[in-house]
Amino acid sequence: MQPIFRVVPNGVEILLYADDILLIVRDRKMEALHRKLQAAVKAADNPNARRSPSRNITIDRVVVPYTNRLRTLGVTLDRTLNFKAHCKMVKEACASRLRVMKAIGAYLPRGKRELTGNTLPTVEQLPRRSNRVWHAPKPSIVWDVKKAVRAGDPPEKVRPIIQNILSSRFHQSSVLYTDGSKCENTVGAGLYRKGLGRMRSLPQHCSVFSAEAFAIRMALTVPNIKDLVILTDSASCLLAIETSKSKHPWIQEIENISRGRSVRFCWIPGHAGIQGNNEADRLANEARSQAVVDIPIPAEDALRAVRSSIRQHWDEQWFASRDPKLREVKFDTYRWKDRDNGADQRVLTRLRIGHTRLTHDFLLNKTPPPRCDCCGVIVDVRHVILRCRKYDDARRMHDTNSTSLGAALGNDADSEKKLLNFRKEANLYKQL
Ligand SMILES: [Zn+2]
Repeated sequence: MQPIFRVVPNGVEILLYADDILLIVRDRKMEALHRKLQAAVKAADNPNARRSPSRNITIDRVVVPYTNRLRTLGVTLDRTLNFKAHCKMVKEACASRLRVMKAIGAYLPRGKRELTGNTLPTVEQLPRRSNRVWHAPKPSIVWDVKKAVRAGDPPEKVRPIIQNILSSRFHQSSVLYTDGSKCENTVGAGLYRKGLGRMRSLPQHCSVFSAEAFAIRMALTVPNIKDLVILTDSASCLLAIETSKSKHPWIQEIENISRGRSVRFCWIPGHAGIQGNNEADRLANEARSQAVVDIPIPAEDALRAVRSSIRQHWDEQWFASRDPKLREVKFDTYRWKDRDNGADQRVLTRLRIGHTRLTHDFLLNKTPPPRCDCCGVIVDVRHVILRCRKYDDARRMHDTNSTSLGAALGNDADSEKKLLNFRKEANLYKQL
């Protein structure tokens, strides 16, 4: 039954045809008629009443879920069935890549593998671009320790839990401990098993996540092990292996190698006094002082390296050549958050760059620079915001008693609110 039949008051007849609704009311008195009809229209106008009843579509008794957006053969369609959603998705996907390419293109001479003085790393190929095929067996991840141990639990509590799981569930398996480590510009991966220790020093741009993944990959390539258990303290790596959606090449390799083999992955807490984990940690740290193995690195690490290199270059430019006046207000090159209100944002921007109607109108009017009628000095933004005696009360009232322009014109929501209130209080609404 359509929901509208339930909400319309008693005594009102209703006829529906497609999207047309006819309400019929009978009464002897005009006033009552009016009242009934008004109530019926109000009830029928409720959006819940007009919605079609939900009815599930099933194929082979499996319910097909409702969705507002669908991606098929690389094309995104939404319920309006036009290409707007698709164009928006493509635009978003391209925008960040284009920005990086633009930035590289501006500084990178053709054929040179160098960016602003840093050599670019070689990028590892991606074995698979999309999610894992749905019928592939799921990797076996053991989260038992995670359920039993809380962050910050003392080693005395953690050790017996690990011992218990080792002797009950993994007593017939070969247990390997892995760990990754990163400090400044050195990255290492370590692998420990009784009587076996391996370590690798990885390229400096690798992340901790990559180091942990590399260590797990190393463990999978140890020969002559039939039943393998890998113990790691990297929950993020295990989650990536479990969900099988990772675009990290080493995670995908771990998935490929472990498929069809008897491999289990188990999370253990790091730095909890577990001997094997301590050894793996020691090896990973030791690896950092060794010669780096020149291997291709995951694209996400390379991209991060490129981004940080561009940022560094930009910072150098900003601090070397730009107008120090602007640096008084903004100390870095990170993007500031804009306000939702365009008019407020305009005022803030004018104040930050120091160009307002009050201080620069004279250029258009071809008159001498304005002088403050109270203090007698030439008016600029610093004078208005920090010094002018005329606005002392407004400043006190809205607590904008900063001593520096940087503090008064900062990007934090609190300073901005105070500044906008001060402008209102000082009656500078149209002059800034
Ligand atoms: Zn003044």
